[in-house]
Amino acid sequence: MSKLYFKFGAMASSKTANALMTRFNYEEKGNHVWLIKPDLDNRDDYLDENGNRVTVVKSRIGLSAVADVIRQDENLLERFETLRAAAPVDVIICDECQFLTGEQVDQMKYIAEYCDTPVLCFGLRSDFQTKLFPGSQRLFEIADSITEIKSVCRCGKKAIVNARLNERGQVITEGEQVCIGGNDKYEGMCWGCWQDRIKRGL
Ligand SMILES: [Zn+2]
Repeated sequence: MSKLYFKFGAMASSKTANALMTRFNYEEKGNHVWLIKPDLDNRDDYLDENGNRVTVVKSRIGLSAVADVIRQDENLLERFETLRAAAPVDVIICDECQFLTGEQVDQMKYIAEYCDTPVLCFGLRSDFQTKLFPGSQRLFEIADSITEIKSVCRCGKKAIVNARLNERGQVITEGEQVCIGGNDKYEGMCWGCWQDRIKRGL
């Protein structure tokens, strides 16, 4: 039996860097890592010379790696078993795991429990309205190990809100749950600063 891990943090808390360093550590010891990422976040994808889309896990500090993309309607257990029939898989690392469906998190739990393969999920806890993402909710419910990757607000307190910013840098609280963007569109903040900026229209 292996474990399902959830390592969560706010925007810009080095989640992806942590995921890639974890991958490096496993590979350095000769383990085969299956690096995956849900297809909702495709901001770093590119087309190779044959026109095929390549999905990339990319950290702000410069680390990056090619990953397998996971569609919303895909069964992770089936995909894992197909892959493992062809090549060894010792550990699964998922970046942006908040975009997994609840069913896919259940499939990961099954893989950890019954296929003896650890599954490490890195992602956000909540959206720009402080509501849990579906994947994160299910991970809080059934992960064996839950760890916070901490980061700080500009004021020095711990950042817990992923504030969404408009093009003028003002905090916005209306819109779709998923709106992919990088450092210019989101900022990790403490609750107090988030509320203060909403009230003052900043
Ligand atoms: Zn603050």
